[in-house]
Amino acid sequence: MVAYDPNNIFGKILRGELPCHKVYEDDKALAFLDIMPRAPGHTLVLPKSPARNMLDVSSDDLAHVMSVAQKVAKAAMKTFGADGITIQQFNESAGGQVVFHLHVHVIPRKTGEALKPPASAKEKPEVLAEHAKKLAAALA
Ligand code: 5GP
Repeated sequence: MVAYDPNNIFGKILRGELPCHKVYEDDKALAFLDIMPRAPGHTLVLPKSPARNMLDVSSDDLAHVMSVAQKVAKAAMKTFGADGITIQQFNESAGGQVVFHLHVHVIPRKTGEALKPPASAKEKPEVLAEHAKKLAAALA
């Protein structure tokens, strides 16, 4: 197993060295919008502990992240008028992981609307700011 590298982009966001469109935070987890959403409201939920992915995270931290993902999913259903939610989580390059701090994707879905390809287009900052504000309000 490769060791956790704190210089990954989500590690920098967790330390406040890079900005994010935050939707939820508690003592053990942070959730913010994906800058290249596969659908409006696409959110990433991370443990604050330095876990590379599901293969090295503690079961307690993983359980907490999933519980926050559930809260975000329920709030996103209302906020984005979704018909469903897709959860994705990738482990190591072979498993599709690109950023090596554990994160769970929570993606609101509408019936008949396909997901955009991964990392295909950056959303406008003003759109992300508006979506984050609405989702954070629903989670407060
Ligand atoms: P994964 O590692 O799960 O395959 O994908 C990483 C995800 O992080 C992608 O969905 C990508 O759009 C997103 N991403 C990459 N860089 C940034 C960033 O700087 N900020 C945010 N909020 N998301 C990012």
